[in-house]
This record gives sequence, structure tokens and C-alpha cells, in this order.
Amino acid sequence: MKLRTRLLLWYSGVFFVSASSLVGAMYGAVARKLRGDFFSYMADGYQEVCRITRDNLGDPEEMRRDVEVEVLANRYFPLSYRLYDARRAAVVLQVAPVWLRALTWEPDTSDAGRREPLPLRRAGRRQGSIVYFMTGPLDRGENSHLFVELGMSYKRVYQRLHTLAQALVAALGVSLVVAVTGGRLLASRSLRPIDEMASAMARIEAENLSARLAGARPEDEIGRLAASINRMLARLEAAFDSARSFTADAAHELRTPLAAARCSVELAADATRGQEDRAEVVEEALRHLDELVRVLDDLLLLARLDAEDVPCEGEASDMQEILDDLGEVYRALADGKDIALNLSARGPCRVRGSSALLRRLLGNLIENAILYTPPGGTVAVKASEDGQTCRVVVSDTGIGVSVEELPRIFERFYRSDTPEVRRQRGTGLGLSICRRVAELHGGSLSVSSRRGQGSTFTVELPRHGPPS
Ligand code: ADP
Repeated sequence: MKLRTRLLLWYSGVFFVSASSLVGAMYGAVARKLRGDFFSYMADGYQEVCRITRDNLGDPEEMRRDVEVEVLANRYFPLSYRLYDARRAAVVLQVAPVWLRALTWEPDTSDAGRREPLPLRRAGRRQGSIVYFMTGPLDRGENSHLFVELGMSYKRVYQRLHTLAQALVAALGVSLVVAVTGGRLLASRSLRPIDEMASAMARIEAENLSARLAGARPEDEIGRLAASINRMLARLEAAFDSARSFTADAAHELRTPLAAARCSVELAADATRGQEDRAEVVEEALRHLDELVRVLDDLLLLARLDAEDVPCEGEASDMQEILDDLGEVYRALADGKDIALNLSARGPCRVRGSSALLRRLLGNLIENAILYTPPGGTVAVKASEDGQTCRVVVSDTGIGVSVEELPRIFERFYRSDTPEVRRQRGTGLGLSICRRVAELHGGSLSVSSRRGQGSTFTVELPRHGPPS
């Protein structure tokens, strides 16, 4: 079922239930009031005819005249009067319009001792009208065998209530029609922007992700929805763009060593070259192929890190141990460049995760620090724990990174375009891998650097075990 129809049904249903409850309550209140007035008027009339009867017991003609004045003069509520003698079982006096006279009611004489009128009794319909009777003994003394009965037509009250009910039902019907029409209008008006948005979204494809939803008022819910969709489109566009440039960069990175290797193989195939010359060219080709394999390995690792297809829930590794191992690995590289490599760890610092990936993360940072620091410089690696965090800081006194470039060095394939960096072999994927590894271990990698003054990379990872 369409949202519009559902909204309309809900709206009409709620409106109908609340409007009919209101109408029902109104009718009930008016009916109670009219019935109350009717019965109190009737009780007054009953007292009055009883008084007239008592006062004129000795003069039947006077009694008839007075009762006729009281009973027949009332045109609004037609009345009937009877005086019944229970001892003789005969009607002593009856005054009533002709149509009411035909109702023959035997007064209930079982409660002859009661002073108060007996409970009201509802009579049957007479010419479409309901008549109520009130009966009771004239007194408790010598006249207790005389019963006065007053009948009063309920027709007027009934007609009024009937007219009121008709008017209320008609009003309910009309307002329901108005509400349903208004509801339809309201539903289609408020859902129109969503329809337009759906059509606009259907027109947006991967090729035109730069298109945005327009027209919605920013301050309402639909405007906020459109703004969220626009933000999502912007993120999608950025992701598509970066995927495109990633493919182009990856192709370029792979093409360069492959073309160089091909060139070397072509040279090696030249029969005019001497044995020694050929061996040198083949070695060159192997170097290019190694580089190719390195780029491919990095790309593969990044793809797996992106897909979270790497085990990060392994045993807890001690950072001190990892740093000791890395110290041994990179000592030769540092010594070769006359760089002081200082590794220190304050206290045991254990991190849960893949020790191979953690080695890769710290190894990359140490290698970069050595590569991008001129001879005579220092690379310091310090591991420490701070509450629930294990922090490793790799700082160097190297070439540093300019403020403009700093946010970009974590981008895939980004390399500074400076002679110092170009001189080093690299893929520009190392820091992206480092950051992904840190994130997958629930941590972070940040940097602060100044051109010509060195850099400081800080890895923060959740500590394993209780704080010491
Ligand atoms: P690669 O080292 O292979 O070029 P990375 O992703 O590891 O790729 O580094 C990206 C860039 O960040 C480097 O090309 C370099 O310009 C800059 N960089 C990284 N580490 C340092 C450092 N310790 N000092 C100065 N620049 C650095």
C-alpha cells in the first residue's frame, strides 16, 4: 500500500474516532440534560395534581375542573391524569387527551404504603411517542387506597434528541468528507517533495554524481533529508573520484617498473653485448621487477586492510620486543647513513593484534625516518604506556614536511615532490598502510612536522591488560 494511502487512512481513522467520540459525548450530555429536565418537570406536575386532588376530595366537579386546567392546558408536554380507587378497583376520574386515554395502565398498588411516587415506568409507544407514567398513593392515611397517576408524553424530548442526532451525524459526515479531502491534499502536498526527490535520485548515476538534490526547504525534515542525501552524494563522489585516481595511480606505479624491466630485458637480449654487460642489465631488470612486486604486495595488503580481511585479534604483542627486533633490522640502514637510531621503551606495553602488521606499521615509520633524515641526524623511537593507551613516538631530525603537504602524506601514492624524496625509492603507500593498521587495531596515527626541522609520528593503540 502506498505511503500516501496509509497516511490518509490513518489520518481519516483518527479523525473519525475522535470526532465521533466528541459527537457521542455531546449527544450524551444534551440527552442527559433534556431527560433530567423532563423528569423533574414531571415530578413537579405530579406533586401539583396530587395537591389539587387532595384539596378537592369533597368536591368531584371542582376537582375535575382544576385537574383539567392543569392537565389539558399543557400543550408542550401532553399530560394524562387518572385517579384510581384500589378499594373499588375503579377509575374515579380520568382527564387526558383522546389519544392518551386509550392507554390503559393498571396502577401498581402493591406499594400502597409509600408516600413518594413509585419509580418511573416507561410506557409503550403511542402514535410514535413514548409516554412515561408516575403513580403513587395519594397519602399514607385514609386516602392510601386512592392512586394518582400522571402520564407525560416524551415526544418533544424524543423529537429534539432525534433532530440533534440527525444534525450531529450530518455534521460528522460533512466534516469527515472535508477531512478526507483535506487529508488527501495535505498528504500529496507533503509527499510531493519526496516524489520529486525519488525521481531526481533515479536520474543520478555513477557518471553524474556531481548532481545534487535541490528545491527542498532546508529548515524542514525533507530539507534535512535532502541535505543528508546531498552529503552522502558528495562522499560517494569523493570515493568514486579517489577510486578512479587510485586506479590511474596504481596503473602508473606498476607501469613504470614494468616498462623499465622490459627495457632492460630488451637490452639483455641484444646479442652484441658482452657477458658482463648483459649480467648487469639483467640485474637491473630484476631490481625493477622487485619494485613491481613491492608495489603489488602493498596494493594487495591495502586491499585486504580495506576489506578488513586481516586477523587483528591475535595474541598480545610486547612493543618492547617488536622494537628490539626492528632495531636489529634497521640498525645497518641507520649506520650506513650515519644516523643515530635510539630505541627505548618505558615499562612493558602490550598490544593485542597482529604482530606482523604492528611490525609493518612501526617498521615503515622507522624506515621513513631513516630515509628522510640526512646523514648525521637522529631517529628516536620511544614506547610508553599511558593509562589504557600504548604510545609509540617515532621522531627524526630529517627533512620534515611542509604545512601544505602534511594532510596529504597519508593519501595513497602521495609522495613529496622534493629532490630528497625523489631520490628514495618508494611507492607512496607506506603511510596509508600504517594508518589503516593503526585504525584496524582500534588506534590512530598522527603526525606533526616542519619543513627542514624533522617529523614526529605518534601511534596510539589500546593497551592490553590492566594498567600497571
Ligand atoms: P614512501 O615513503 O614510499 O614515499 P609513504 O606513504 O611512507 O611513502 O610516505 C609518503 C610521503 O610522506 C613520503 O613520500 C614523504 O614525502 C613523506 N614522509 C613520510 N615520512 C616522512 C618523514 N619521516 N620525514 C619527512 N617526510 C616523510
